Amino acid sequence: MAVPEMISLEEARELVLSRVSPLQPEMVSLLDLIGRVAAEDLASDIEVSPFAHSAMDGFAMRASQLAGASEDAPVELDVIAEVPAGGWFEGTIGEGQCVRIMTGAPLPADADAVVKYEVVGVVSGEGRAGGRVAFTAPAQAGDNVRPAGDEAHAGEVIVHAGEVIHSAGVGFLAGCGVTEAATYRRPQVGIIATGAELVPPTEVPVRGQIRNSNSFMLAAACIDAGAVPHILPISPDDYDGLLAEVSDAARTFDFVITSGGAANGDYDFIKKVVDAAGELLMTTVNMRPGKAQTFGIVHGTPVFGLPGNPAAAYLGFEMIIRPALRAMQGYSHFSRPTVTARLAEDMCKRDPRRIFNRATLCKEADGSYSVMPAKNQSSGLFGPIQRANCFMVMPEGTGEYHKGDMLECVLLDIPEEVLL
Ligand code: AMP
Ligand code: MG
Repeated sequence: MAVPEMISLEEARELVLSRVSPLQPEMVSLLDLIGRVAAEDLASDIEVSPFAHSAMDGFAMRASQLAGASEDAPVELDVIAEVPAGGWFEGTIGEGQCVRIMTGAPLPADADAVVKYEVVGVVSGEGRAGGRVAFTAPAQAGDNVRPAGDEAHAGEVIVHAGEVIHSAGVGFLAGCGVTEAATYRRPQVGIIATGAELVPPTEVPVRGQIRNSNSFMLAAACIDAGAVPHILPISPDDYDGLLAEVSDAARTFDFVITSGGAANGDYDFIKKVVDAAGELLMTTVNMRPGKAQTFGIVHGTPVFGLPGNPAAAYLGFEMIIRPALRAMQGYSHFSRPTVTARLAEDMCKRDPRRIFNRATLCKEADGSYSVMPAKNQSSGLFGPIQRANCFMVMPEGTGEYHKGDMLECVLLDIPEEVLL
């Protein structure tokens, strides 16, 4: 099948997503579930709370005992016992009696309401067992009582397959006796930088050399996406070497990312390598920076060839690879939140591709947003992205943009699940 010349970003993302699926689930312990997707329905083993209990420090009785109570005609009750959290009151509450009760303590079987301390008058004995207290208002059955099973019933599914587990979810599961659960395995990602000019960051580059920064950005972005990066040796610009390294990595890892050598230069080999070793599916995406975006399948493994320019590699990862790595972990939201913002200065767009400008978004006093693009939009730079907080999107086509025009901005580093 011929590989299409240039496809849209949406088509690229769809193509890559159509070639990945969630990895096989693994059992992980409760704390390791944070931020991950439940691969199965998770149910409570018991009623939570297991018993009706008091929501306040106060006095428990039947509401009917306080019928008609008022400032002028208080109802006085004898305090016959004290029940703390973790305790259990075995007795019965007779007419004219109540029990002093703490927050979290089981509600006595024949009580149905709790009146909080603050509104109860002490008649004698400091309101403790053996003393007497006065109520100046009636109560309703259920006042300050939390019923058994208000969080979950025994056997009830409390987290459904596909849900992202947040910190509250970890607590919810702990309370319901779930101490480990199945979640999709994290993708192991092989990262290969290509380029004869590259040396590791630990070395000082000499004539014509630069440090390999992309592999580290990509590894960090993998971690951020929930994947496990493996930085592989730098591949010099040599077809046979790259073919061997990509083939090896495709056999070893769940996903392979290369950077550099993705265009049509004399030493750009990733397209030829993917085509020779497997199935080449995509080479060019209508976006800037970074239209050279190669994708294919080698030995059943997705292989993505990013361009070498740092900003282009970053954008390709962010827009296309990150969704794929998340799909492999069972996530179902793939777009970062966006806001519409007022452009802060006039601009001219000469490149017809969709442009993702590195930019800073500010919230104004009236709640609206304004956006200022970074002065230097060179695709060779990481700094403007590090200092930016969004990509300001200029749609396909050329033309003038004016101060005050409204443009869509994609927020960086905000989870896909967040609604704005
Ligand atoms: P390429 O896509 O191979 O033509 O590279 C485009 C530009 O990105 C060149 O200036 C390369 O030196 C640079 N580049 C390529 N790979 C890396 C890398 N791993 N880290 C930093 N810059 C790179
Ligand atoms: Mg190169």
